Amino acid sequence: MIPYSRQSITDEDILAVSQTLKSDFLTQGPAVPAFEDALKNQFSVQHAIACSSGTAALHLAYASLGVDLNTIGIVPTITFAATANAFRYLGATVKFCDVDPQTGLLCLESLDAILKKISPKSCPCPVVISPVSLAGALAPLAEVSQRVNPLGFKVIEDASHSPGAFKTSNNRVDKSASCEHTDAACLSFHPVKHICSGEGGAILTNDNSIAKKAEKLRSHGIERPYDEGHETPWFYKQTALGWNYRMTDFQASLGKSQLGRLDEQLATRREIAQKYDQAFTSAPFNHYLDCPTPTSGHSWHLYVLRFKQKGWRDKAHKFLKEKGILTQIHYIPLYKHPYYQPLVEKVAFPGSEEYFDSCLSIPMFPGLTSEEQNTVIEEIGHFIALLG
Ligand SMILES: *Cc1c(COP(=O)(O)O)cnc(C)c1O
Repeated sequence: MIPYSRQSITDEDILAVSQTLKSDFLTQGPAVPAFEDALKNQFSVQHAIACSSGTAALHLAYASLGVDLNTIGIVPTITFAATANAFRYLGATVKFCDVDPQTGLLCLESLDAILKKISPKSCPCPVVISPVSLAGALAPLAEVSQRVNPLGFKVIEDASHSPGAFKTSNNRVDKSASCEHTDAACLSFHPVKHICSGEGGAILTNDNSIAKKAEKLRSHGIERPYDEGHETPWFYKQTALGWNYRMTDFQASLGKSQLGRLDEQLATRREIAQKYDQAFTSAPFNHYLDCPTPTSGHSWHLYVLRFKQKGWRDKAHKFLKEKGILTQIHYIPLYKHPYYQPLVEKVAFPGSEEYFDSCLSIPMFPGLTSEEQNTVIEEIGHFIALLG
């Protein structure tokens, strides 16, 4: 079976983890701050707070902004549930924003319509927008922040798919997770993502207050004033209700080892994408499917084909599975889930429906061999011959 994604673990990774396992600290030792320093370096940000998952990172980021029962969280419909769930953990109201049917990225016209209709409460954090850089394509972060910064609203990038992604426009280079246009960015280190730590995540930010709160909430809401000069070494105080969202040291040593190979891995992902582009943009493929718009700054977490006719996508999924090729649908729009159905207004999301009906993520990961990729292209060709 060829999966749609798979982690790649090297001897170097194994050595890094086994060294930590033989050391004095399995958790709360030196490996987590070392990983955080490497993250700050890689993404050119002032603070990195590693934690137990990407979901925990979103929860901590929202909590650090002051999200509560009075907050409205605006989330694109096409994303993993965690982007929205983390608002619900804090009691906030979720409003779904439609997406561009070509890219699945948050649609600015839909955002404008939502911003016009909402009546934010006066509370510590009235509105947060969480654009998702889906599949590895940069979300319109600059455009979102231009719209909402004057209103005092906050922006958190869900950068789970997009370490290394960038976009060049108007002589400006915007980078995912750089926090240039956002209050913070959240990463996931789940095995299917670019950097793997088993489970894990991180909040990146240039905001001192967000960083300080996230760090405290990651460990129960406890502060240790000794670090800042308090005379009693054992003294600590709990000043907020936090969680145990800490990352372990052996996870951090795996994450740091993987981060060191990010650029190499991105280059491999880009080569794989280019080969798919070349295959699928020519006949007969181009009559039946669309490829992701090729941009140099795509970080290719996923390679998403879009079938031109409704129904073909499901047939392709089944056909390829029978041939030993596992594909995935990213994502079922969140408003379709039974949990969210009673919570959302009955509005139409035409962009999301169109994207969802057509999208299929085919195998994309650095360990995909050239022969495996040829098999994927060949079998998609066989499927298309059946349609003709
Ligand atoms: C993976 C992912 C998350 C959550 O990350 P976990 O580490 O699995 O908790 C959040 N948002 C998106 C878009 C993701 O792909």
